[in-house]
Amino acid sequence: MQVRELESDPLFNSGRGSALTAKGTEEMEASILDGNKRMCSAVSGVTTVKNPISLSRLVMEKSPHSYLAFSGGEDFGWGTGSKLHPGTACAAAKDSQPQMNGLPISLYEPETVGCVVVDSEGRCAAATSTGGLMNKMTGRIGDSPIIGAGTYSCDLCGVSCTGEGEAIIRRTLAREVAAVMEYKGLNLQQEVDFVIKEKLDQGFAGLIAGSKNG
Ligand code: ASP
Repeated sequence: MQVRELESDPLFNSGRGSALTAKGTEEMEASILDGNKRMCSAVSGVTTVKNPISLSRLVMEKSPHSYLAFSGGEDFGWGTGSKLHPGTACAAAKDSQPQMNGLPISLYEPETVGCVVVDSEGRCAAATSTGGLMNKMTGRIGDSPIIGAGTYSCDLCGVSCTGEGEAIIRRTLAREVAAVMEYKGLNLQQEVDFVIKEKLDQGFAGLIAGSKNG
């Protein structure tokens, strides 16, 4: 998946370009879900790993759990001896970004990054990575690492969301797309339109989705 590349680009709100907390610290989050194998994992509160999505994948493949947060996730990752690179959110980019109340703001309104893949046999997977909302409270967990809210994949489709995490969590937006496909039998465009227009109450959100038919 290309999520690692996007995390390494400071233009996006993930990995190196992550939005910071109100205390000016970084708490990155990521999740990944293999809809075919029914395997998933998520991490939150990541501060020392360059690619949170790689840590999330490690949790999925090498731990017995599906969600590890803060130091627990990082201790696990470093302890596996797997190839993880150290890094924090955009130390270099922070210096070159405009500041507001001592906190960096971006001119580009960067967004969370996500990726949905469908292979030639219709197997779907999805991944999402974010720094979260700018100036969020420390300890705040958004939608991106929550399976079914910001990320979802099953045998029908893969979905990755961006936007206001609290609104996305309230409606379990990513899972909603799959549920509409499953129970209403709509095509992908119809179901995404339905979910965004009818299900999202307040707040802003967008998503990418791919169906097993591509
Ligand atoms: N959805 C993310 C969050 O609320 C933010 C974003 O999409 O940029 O944590």
